[in-house]
Amino acid sequence: MRDIVAPESARFRHFTEVFAEVVGAAGYQQIIPPIMEDLGVFTRLGDATDIVTKEMYDFVDKGGRHVALRPEQTASVCRAYVELRPLTPWKTWYSGPNFRYEKPQRGRYRQFDQVGIEVLGADDPYLDVEVIALAWEFYRRLGLQQVALLVNSLGEPDDRARYVDALRRHFEAAGDALSEQSRETLNKNPLRVLDSKRREDAPIIAGAPTIDQFWSEEAAAHFATVRSGLDDLGIAFEVNMRLVRGLDYYRRTTFEFQGGTLDSAQNALGGGGRYDGLVEDLGGPPTAGIGFALGVDRTLLACSDEGVFGAPDDSVDVFVVDTTGGREALLITNELRAAGLSADRAFDNRSMKSQMKAADRSGATFAVIIGSDEVAAGTAVVRPMRGGDQVVVARAELLSDLKTRIP
Ligand code: AMP
Repeated sequence: MRDIVAPESARFRHFTEVFAEVVGAAGYQQIIPPIMEDLGVFTRLGDATDIVTKEMYDFVDKGGRHVALRPEQTASVCRAYVELRPLTPWKTWYSGPNFRYEKPQRGRYRQFDQVGIEVLGADDPYLDVEVIALAWEFYRRLGLQQVALLVNSLGEPDDRARYVDALRRHFEAAGDALSEQSRETLNKNPLRVLDSKRREDAPIIAGAPTIDQFWSEEAAAHFATVRSGLDDLGIAFEVNMRLVRGLDYYRRTTFEFQGGTLDSAQNALGGGGRYDGLVEDLGGPPTAGIGFALGVDRTLLACSDEGVFGAPDDSVDVFVVDTTGGREALLITNELRAAGLSADRAFDNRSMKSQMKAADRSGATFAVIIGSDEVAAGTAVVRPMRGGDQVVVARAELLSDLKTRIP
């Protein structure tokens, strides 16, 4: 876990603001779920996933409840849906930290942030297109160029079950040629074997059956509409049959965004897909769901690699230099801030030279200088910090004068 300090922290905040703007403009409303949930909310994600079996920060609280820091937020949103029973489609967005006990490296942390959306209660393929298009638009707003969109369909739950059987037979037939790790994965979830990066597994995976052979007519039609909708919007994508999500509740559309500048093990910027069964597992009615989560930390790394989306300029408009003890600076900064200008000042009654250095460092556009002469005359000096002549203004007119100078 790490500290995120300025200017990176400003970039982080700005990232969420841009995301909120993009999805807010499409009618999504924010949900702020708690960071901790009953462990059961997450174990329903599937015991075969590393996220649940190995990576969860779970503990027993003082009341004897077994709780966990959330490893992701989809489950929390579904849990909230079951409790609140909102009108559907329920279009929500979220942002915030998640926790996974992973091996930390560049782009992989034990506390990491995600922004995401979830829509509950609509099964329309055009919703899948909307959801993907919003992530696409968000990347465009960030200025990211090297983003590849991969899409796939896992079919209906029955299609998927038949596919999993076929995969199991295929991998079992390979016997010891399959790596030991993959043989272990095979016992729990044959789909996950497709994710193996081990060299000995590559030819066996290459020969594995693909999901399209198992799509029902309905699933194939749904996916065809999704693809044509993406075409209609001019969104470039690649169909990748190996893109499977291990969790049992995923069905139909799944997608992933990959960054072009990151190591292949950490190149997923975000991903999502359709799911059902999760709301039901949490005690609600059968409900269609779709969403995505985008990793903030990793996407910002990709932005740095591409030299886009820097930190917003957070320097102040005015820095007040007061050599009379500091009370004037107190009054002036208070007046300017109340009027909507940003203003900073020095403390500890430092020398004029030291305060001017601080004014320089602050990046302020103007320094307002008050010494004993100015106090006696009822004036203030306004000095432009990036060239130009300083002027003396009446103290009573300082605010209105600065307002004409600062757009
Ligand atoms: P997931 O919830 O596993 O589908 O992950 C969605 C996105 O969250 C990924 O594409 C990453 O960008 C990000 N992510 C997941 N795990 C981590 C992590 N440990 N550290 C940083 N980012 C992560």
